[in-house]
Amino acid sequence: SYRKGGYHAVRIGDPFAGGRYIAQRKLGWGQFSTVWLAYDTQSSKYVALKIQKSAQQFAQAALHEIEVLSSIADGDPSNSKCIVRLIDHFKHTGPNGQHLCMVLEFLGDSLLRLIRFNRYKGIELNKVREICKCILMGLDYLHRELGIIHTDLKPENILLFSTIDPTKDPIRSGLTPTLERPEGGTLNGGSTMNIIEKKLKRRARRAVANISVRRASMGGGGEAPESARCLDGIDVRCKVVDFGNACWADKPFAEEIQTRQYRAPEVILRSGYSCSVDMWSFACTAFELATGDMMFAPKSGQGFSDDEDHLALVMELLGKMPRKIAIGGARSKDYFDRHGDLKRIRRLKFWPLDRLLVEKYEFSESDAREFAEFLCPLLDFSPEKRPTAQQCLQHPWLNLRSSGQNEMQGRSNVDVGMRNLQI
Ligand code: ATP
Ligand code: MG
Ligand code: MG
Repeated sequence: SYRKGGYHAVRIGDPFAGGRYIAQRKLGWGQFSTVWLAYDTQSSKYVALKIQKSAQQFAQAALHEIEVLSSIADGDPSNSKCIVRLIDHFKHTGPNGQHLCMVLEFLGDSLLRLIRFNRYKGIELNKVREICKCILMGLDYLHRELGIIHTDLKPENILLFSTIDPTKDPIRSGLTPTLERPEGGTLNGGSTMNIIEKKLKRRARRAVANISVRRASMGGGGEAPESARCLDGIDVRCKVVDFGNACWADKPFAEEIQTRQYRAPEVILRSGYSCSVDMWSFACTAFELATGDMMFAPKSGQGFSDDEDHLALVMELLGKMPRKIAIGGARSKDYFDRHGDLKRIRRLKFWPLDRLLVEKYEFSESDAREFAEFLCPLLDFSPEKRPTAQQCLQHPWLNLRSSGQNEMQGRSNVDVGMRNLQI
């Protein structure tokens, strides 16, 4: 993809926007862009630089994303609504063409990496509650104040962040910036940059040592070592990112939205959609955080498609879809007969959510009941019956406290320092 119309190749130390931003290290990439950690010489802060592919359709998409992110920023001057902040944008011309670039606030690892880091065993429920509150605050702002549907909410698109300034305390903040030297010494010695880098390097070395101590002690089941305990107290927060597919609720443009596993049934059935599709994806994300497994992981099989498997999985967990809803979409005839039964998957094995949580994920009866009571209304087949983010924020589950005693062994604490493992 590093050809005309594609990604822009970046070398560490490359300057952008007339030298204001200096590339440090690759943070991630997607279908549309590569994202780089960059140093902002104007504000003396680290930022994330999203460099879009150059072809016309990608530039178009970037303009749309900039427009959405600008309204998000305009409506939230104090930057407190749990959505990534757009700081700046500009064009950068390279050998593959002209690339639109977005400068975003620098955030930490995604919730997907967090789930992986916990070895797919799920995260402690009290931490899940905190993360859910952040996501809901973001969704409430998007839906109620701006009328924006994200349309691609999933663990990968929610990034951790900490209120601790990463340039001051990168280890505790969990946002350890890169320690790579600029290639070819493009950054001249003596700058603040180099001093910060040296400090970071020293801290990072210490952190790596701490992590190996923690790992070694894991099997022993003894007391958590110092480093783990100090990460424990951090108020874990997160922000929603990736607004490339977001749309205004009054002018949805794509028929097929959302990543497969987080897709609401009305999207599969083509019955029209609104902000409540994000609430469906939110419920799937909360389940995944708490259990480590995707709530629905549909696969095609002999004689049925992944869409049909998806509908079957959804009904096995939540009960039969009311006939009216099942047959109400433009695609309904492909999957359901006139009685509202699936045409090609005839036998469903029902396993209600609260039982699944107890029997498969070893939740205590009370944890399972309470969590299912929180999630089930969000998974209502009737989109307009799903609680809004604002209503969901009032749900008592968010303010419950689990003792943790009944939690599955290994369901560990959120370790906001996991980025350290990458050094
Ligand atoms: P997609 O194919 O998912 O639409 P995309 O090209 O639109 O991808 P993003 O999803 O916005 O790109 O970003 C790609 C990756 O870069 C993210 O998954 C994340 O790992 C990283 N990233 C994005 N924004 C930030 C940020 N503000 N701070 C830190 N890392 C980020
Ligand atoms: Mg993405
Ligand atoms: Mg995107």
